[in-house]
Amino acid sequence: MIGRLDHLGLAVTSIAEARRFWEELGLAVDQVEEVAQEGVRVAMLRVGESRIELLEATSPESPIARFIARRGPGLHHVCLASDDVAADDARLRAAGFELLRDAPSPGAGGSRVQFVHPKSAGGVLVELAQAPEEER
Ligand code: ZN
Repeated sequence: MIGRLDHLGLAVTSIAEARRFWEELGLAVDQVEEVAQEGVRVAMLRVGESRIELLEATSPESPIARFIARRGPGLHHVCLASDDVAADDARLRAAGFELLRDAPSPGAGGSRVQFVHPKSAGGVLVELAQAPEEER
C-alpha cells in the first residue's frame, strides 16, 4: 500500500552545483550515497515528510546521463513510499502495467525499489520504495 510521496528525483549535472539552490532555501543534505549498480550518486534533502533526491551520473552509460543527454536536467521521477513493494509490484503486474525490473531490487538508503514505466503512468516515471524499517 502507498503511504505518502517519498521524494521527487531530479536529474542534475552536478550535485555540488545543484545543492546550492536547495540549501539556500534552508533544506539540508542529509546523505550523499553512490548507488554503483545504477551508475548514480544520490543526495537526499529532507522537506518535511518528503524529500528531494538529486541524481548525478557517475558514468556516461548511467540512465541519468542518458536522460540528461536526451532532455536536459530536470524532474526525472516521482517516488511513492510503499509498505510492501513486492505486493504493489505483483498487483500492478497482474493489472497489466509495465514495470521496469523483473522484481524489486536494492535502492538508495537500504530501500527496496521498483519502477513503473512512464507509458503505464501518464508519462511519468514512478518509483515505489519500501524503507528498510518497513521490510517484512
Ligand atoms: Zn528516487
